[in-house]
Amino acid sequence: MALFCHRCGTGLPASARFCSNCGSTIFVAAPMAGRPLVRPIAGRQIAGVCIGLAQANAWDVAVVRIVAVVGFFFSGGLVAVAYLAGWIGIPEEILPMPGFPPPQQ
Ligand SMILES: [Zn+2]
Repeated sequence: MALFCHRCGTGLPASARFCSNCGSTIFVAAPMAGRPLVRPIAGRQIAGVCIGLAQANAWDVAVVRIVAVVGFFFSGGLVAVAYLAGWIGIPEEILPMPGFPPPQQ
């Protein structure tokens, strides 16, 4: 996933923490990768398994959902079983308590 400097628009490698052109700190897209595997409350369609996997691995959630839906129909139930296993096995995201800032990565 490419990053773009939000000040000058320069394209940067995904591991960049500072813009090589203007030197501003890159922080917008970086927290997407390496998140713990949870089922987020926000953005889920059914149980949050797809978006949870996508966020934990920095995948595109749209791609994960397409693969999951196609897999539902063409894997003979394998993906359905895996989805249910994820539903049961992946912990639900713990919402930050009101008044506390979200945990910093
Ligand atoms: Zn820049």
